[in-house]
Amino acid sequence: MESEYLSKLIPVVFLLVLGGLEALGGLYFDGKRSKNDFTIELLSLAILPTLIQPGIFIFCFWLSDLTIPFLENYFINFSIFWQIIAFLIFDDLTQYWWHRFSHQNKTMWKLHRPHHVVEEMGVLVTYRNATLYYALMPGIYLSAILVYLGMGYVYLFYLPVKLIVILLAHSETKWDKFLYQYKWMHHIAWVIERTISTPATHFAHHGLTKEDGISNPNGNYGNLLFLWDIIFGTAKITRKYPEKFGAWNLMKEPWYVQLMFPFIKSKNSRSELHSLTTKNDYNPSVDSKSFKNQK
Ligand SMILES: [Zn+2]
Repeated sequence: MESEYLSKLIPVVFLLVLGGLEALGGLYFDGKRSKNDFTIELLSLAILPTLIQPGIFIFCFWLSDLTIPFLENYFINFSIFWQIIAFLIFDDLTQYWWHRFSHQNKTMWKLHRPHHVVEEMGVLVTYRNATLYYALMPGIYLSAILVYLGMGYVYLFYLPVKLIVILLAHSETKWDKFLYQYKWMHHIAWVIERTISTPATHFAHHGLTKEDGISNPNGNYGNLLFLWDIIFGTAKITRKYPEKFGAWNLMKEPWYVQLMFPFIKSKNSRSELHSLTTKNDYNPSVDSKSFKNQK
């Protein structure tokens, strides 16, 4: 019970400390975030761990009890190494593909779009996505099944580690900066930046355009592991941070449309959130420069 409590508490402490440091650095007071943005960020931060993730877990446990009850705790004595590998593959790798698909499919992009329309970084960006983006995310369902199969103890450690890495990768505190400052650290940096998401590589994913030579809006999709980007050819490593963030389609929709699409749609017929498919849909894999040229 104590590990369960710590597993939830540690990422929350990280979130508060990083958010506090960012606020002290002036991040949230520069006018780039509207009240609408804060509402999206705080609501998605609250809904994912309290409603979506537990809801998916309860559903998967119920379904497993109905269909595969003989497999409950079947892998409980499986080696910890293989249990970690199972979470990396069934949760983190599937999330890589889910994220990548959301940048390649026009309808899926509408669910991931809230994550990219804010023009600055910070821990609050981490979980801003439409609720359906998480409610349908394969990795959460597969994690629940692994827990049913007996891997719950490893999940108590795996999940906070993953959350901390991804919170840090969005945070303006840029923990990785020091790795690039000293030459003798470059070998260590080489290994780290190819293994896990760092602020430099993940900020590049949020960069506005690849024209700056740093950003990689259609790559660097990894969450916990950056290794997936290396393996699947979507990695870009520059050890620099972009200056401009956001998505080129900056039409700001009310928070309830961004979070609840397609259950709540935009009233504006020019908005891509007006319907599941519209004639104004944006191909998210087109970079901003080519997008402007198309207009
Ligand atoms: Zn993305």
